[in-house]
Amino acid sequence: MPKIRKILIANRGEIAIRVMRTCKELGIATVAVYSEADRSALHVRMADQAYFVGPPPSRESYLVQERILEAARQSGADAIHPGYGFLSENASFVRACEKAGVTFIGPPASAMDAMGEKTRARQNMIKAGVPVVPGSTEPIATQEEARTYAEKIGFPVMLKAAGGGGGKGMRKVEQGSEFDSAWRSAKSEALNAFGNDAVYIEKYLEKPHHVEIQVFADQHGTTVHLGERECSAQRRHQKVVEETPSPILTPELRAQMGEVAVKAAKAVNYVGAGTVEFLVDAHRNFYFLEMNTRLQVEHPVTEWVTGLDLVALQIKVAEGEKLPFTDTVPPRGHAIEVRIYAEDPARNFMPSPGRIQYLRVPGGPNVRDDSGVFAGYTVPNFYDPMISKLSVWAPTRAEAIARAQRALSEYVVKGITTNTRYLKAILAHPEFAGGDYDTSFLTREHTALL
Ligand code: ADP
Repeated sequence: MPKIRKILIANRGEIAIRVMRTCKELGIATVAVYSEADRSALHVRMADQAYFVGPPPSRESYLVQERILEAARQSGADAIHPGYGFLSENASFVRACEKAGVTFIGPPASAMDAMGEKTRARQNMIKAGVPVVPGSTEPIATQEEARTYAEKIGFPVMLKAAGGGGGKGMRKVEQGSEFDSAWRSAKSEALNAFGNDAVYIEKYLEKPHHVEIQVFADQHGTTVHLGERECSAQRRHQKVVEETPSPILTPELRAQMGEVAVKAAKAVNYVGAGTVEFLVDAHRNFYFLEMNTRLQVEHPVTEWVTGLDLVALQIKVAEGEKLPFTDTVPPRGHAIEVRIYAEDPARNFMPSPGRIQYLRVPGGPNVRDDSGVFAGYTVPNFYDPMISKLSVWAPTRAEAIARAQRALSEYVVKGITTNTRYLKAILAHPEFAGGDYDTSFLTREHTALL
């Protein structure tokens, strides 16, 4: 396969810039796309070329396949990097790229199909011998059937949208009396958010840990895992702080989960970067949750401890090169990432878009800022309000926590409200310091953290 010379990045914000940085280092030309709301965005300024793709709502711009492909054609890009979100997990887009003769930097459409719908993924994983969270493997047709099923596996249960993502379309049901109304609202929420009202049922696991495994596969049959990320610090089922190594994994459990993640990827003939997410219960049993068939937001922590550039690896794999390793790369030291959002924790985490009047980004040893903002920039209200991912590395976990706190104390942004104080409170919390915090941590300690 020929070398990639020009990449169109079908995304915006920090991830578009993250991808461009690697392209620049590899001598690959970059093409940005932008909506009306992003005319003055940093990703547009940093790219070699930029194409306008439509009005602010992403449905009318970043999600319009034909516009993106037209920009690729006009610019002469030979590959498209989708980032995360938007078209990154859209199998029909992968097929459209193939048809247009543009390399899609990501897995084949067939692997996305196999992992896209959560119920289909669960069926495929059971077939492959991967343990899944107990529950149904098909969407459940009627309310009566669903209730009978829930009673059979026992409350509490989790109703989940088969087409779900981003923590949406999920509902915990504590007991039978709540079931009918929860079912109806889960169905309508799923339909609204994903255009698909298919809902299935999982056993609700009490206080699990979310531990995910980074996998990488090339086109020559090598599939490896690159360790885990602990993502149990969540608010409304969305990650806020991530770290690696996970403080709760023993080397044995890491090897075991890594092996299962590789098995999961191989079962769907996976190629490129992917993440196999697991829930780990108090007895340290682990269950497949879902696979994300793209680069994750939290990939920098893995880069810190492995010394690898995951975007560069994605590009090399897409060019048909072999992975430069055939076994896992052992982690060195400890890395933590915090997600800085333009939101107000004191007002129920309401997004607070607006103009950034002043910005000072932390520096010093082993601190990394992945961001798409600058002083004078107006954060638009059409997109995810994350403005920066601050990540740090240190030899030990305790030092990494101290470094993350130090970096956060240097972060100054004026003009908009951010969650930096909340993030500092998480890092300073004894339960976080202890390392055995589960997915209930942020909700349980909500008041103490504000
Ligand atoms: P999404 O695709 O929307 O991100 P996931 O299936 O990955 O949804 O789940 C997101 C989070 O929701 C998990 O990390 C976990 O905290 C919680 N969760 C999901 N399923 C369950 C379950 N069966 N029991 C307990 N918590 C769950």
